[in-house]
Amino acid sequence: MRFNRQLESIKIYEGGKPIELVMREYGIPPEKIVKLASNENPFGTSPKVVEAIRTHAEEVYMYPDDSMVELKEALAQKFGIGTKNLIIGAGSDQVISFAVSAKANRYKQLLTARTTFAMYEIYARQIGAKVLKTPSRQHNLDEFYTLYKKHRDAIGIIFLCLPNNPLGESLDKEDVYDFIRKIDDNTMVVVDGAYQDFAAAKDPKKRIDPRELIETFPNTLYLGTFSKSYGLGGMRVGYGIAREEIMQALYKMRPPFNVTSLSLKAAAAALEDQAFVDRTIENNFSEMRKYEDFAKKNQIDFIESYTNFITLLFDDKHNSSEIAQMLLKKGIIIRDLKSYGINGIRVTIGLPEQNERFFEEISPLLQR
Ligand SMILES: *Cc1c(COP(=O)(O)O)cnc(C)c1O
Repeated sequence: MRFNRQLESIKIYEGGKPIELVMREYGIPPEKIVKLASNENPFGTSPKVVEAIRTHAEEVYMYPDDSMVELKEALAQKFGIGTKNLIIGAGSDQVISFAVSAKANRYKQLLTARTTFAMYEIYARQIGAKVLKTPSRQHNLDEFYTLYKKHRDAIGIIFLCLPNNPLGESLDKEDVYDFIRKIDDNTMVVVDGAYQDFAAAKDPKKRIDPRELIETFPNTLYLGTFSKSYGLGGMRVGYGIAREEIMQALYKMRPPFNVTSLSLKAAAAALEDQAFVDRTIENNFSEMRKYEDFAKKNQIDFIESYTNFITLLFDDKHNSSEIAQMLLKKGIIIRDLKSYGINGIRVTIGLPEQNERFFEEISPLLQR
């Protein structure tokens, strides 16, 4: 069968390998498996979330509240914005797809960093839009601006992933603002803040406040998610924050009942347990130091990370795919970055005992 031409250039997205598959393929019991591949919260989720899901389980025969007013009000209060400045998606992924569909097409391209979240490009290609990428892997705003200037009329939307997945770097707010100031109001600038709470805790200069962002710049869209620090990856909840004009456009792309009732309840409950998030962030950066020390001791390069993962870069002596494969056989799941053209791995920071297992299992692999 022939399909739409633009599908030919799309690589099917592969997430972290699920525990279920590792169990089956390698016969490893689930309690021996350590998954550090999808930037999930190693503490799980807040007990308040579990309680909310239990409490509302019997309501699932009804369609969700499509106004999503409870969650919107909680988010509006958290960020000091109006509920009209919010859209909720099945993961912020879905909001990315709305934004791309609203601003890109055959004639209007998407501009991103060379190595960044793969879904920006996939959503663009689905609708036949081209993707322009900066030469450097990590975000370099001078390069973004050079490309923007050169192709100004051909660019509909710019994605800044701050901090960046899968590399971990971030940018200072002031530099980001200086950049956006030079961009035409007709070009949408998306700040994907999936890991912003981690970055803000590590370095306040990197913190981008959604309210200030959209008040300062009418053409910006801020994205947040419950999948990382809140530990709700399985519930699929994310959000977009922008001025009403942008919201009107995004709502035209939204399917009805796009977020399940239990997901809405879970996210609202998660917002009530800030202590859980604080503990997550604290563990993250104290454990990340162990990874940095380990890397230095073993002469492995790493990228300074503002997220809940760290990216280790190997030299020619080691092959990231081989290392990933050998770790898998030991029950350790991490993310190989070969598909991004990088001889490195991305490791989600886990609990102390999970990180110890990782160090233990990878050490002999590095001695070869
Ligand atoms: C995880 C992630 C998202 C969105 O995740 P959802 O689970 O769809 O909310 C968006 N952007 C980046 C950079 C991410 O790492």
